[in-house]
Amino acid sequence: MWVGVVSLFPELIRGIATVGVLGRALRQGGLAIEVFNPRDHATDRHGTVDDRPYGGGPGMVMLAEPLLASIGEAKSKAPSAARVVCLSPQGKRLDQAGVERLAGQTSLVLVTGRYEGIDERVLQLAVDEEVSIGDYVLTGGELPAMVLIDAISRLLPGTLGNSESALSESHLDGLLEYPHYTRPETVAGLKVPPVLLSGDHAAVEKWRRAQALRRTWRRRPELLARRRLSDQDAALLEAELEGPDEETNDA
Ligand code: SAM
Repeated sequence: MWVGVVSLFPELIRGIATVGVLGRALRQGGLAIEVFNPRDHATDRHGTVDDRPYGGGPGMVMLAEPLLASIGEAKSKAPSAARVVCLSPQGKRLDQAGVERLAGQTSLVLVTGRYEGIDERVLQLAVDEEVSIGDYVLTGGELPAMVLIDAISRLLPGTLGNSESALSESHLDGLLEYPHYTRPETVAGLKVPPVLLSGDHAAVEKWRRAQALRRTWRRRPELLARRRLSDQDAALLEAELEGPDEETNDA
């Protein structure tokens, strides 16, 4: 996948992109990121990219023309027709289904704002959709863009070491994931659930499914309300809820 990021702070994007799973995706070639700076398209010698809002009010607004030129440059460099996504607190809230949908694109242009935001006409003329990473306001769109790229990169073929880990992750089938444990068997008196040490794979799978169902029911009941449980899952959850409450942080 090719991603062009339109940003006034290219170094922010480049800094985050080199480590971890994202860095591996970039090195292995499954992902390519290019940054386009609207300042390169400023029309005065000061490199101005913002101005005061018409009608008055606080802050500055990003100028339409440098942004439009930068988006145009990114689209012309994209290897295939790119979908243009603007990161904005006013956009549709990102979830795993949204990440999967965007991961299906071969080229994306991500537009990041700064200051009070961007001239509305950019959205009308050059943006296909607006995406928010949550109901809070950040100072710029670079972190939201990286959140989106990071989430997408995990879905690209060959990016994760163990591709199965992407299949059981929270939200992938509408449930939160089961709890994880590693060595040692006891930490400050807390023991690993015995079934995980049993070597009985079927029992481990059943326990994990029951835990995922219980966790989702306790922490995010609205996720369960959105889906129809199979008879098997409903029975597992019922049995789980009747049993002792072993986990303290699920209250
Ligand atoms: N005045 C704008 C408003 O109230 O909608 C907020 C502008 S914000 C200070 C500056 C930039 O940060 C936005 O243009 C957007 O790119 C980015 N941003 C802030 N919060 C965001 C969020 N929750 N999701 C996605 N982008 C966000």
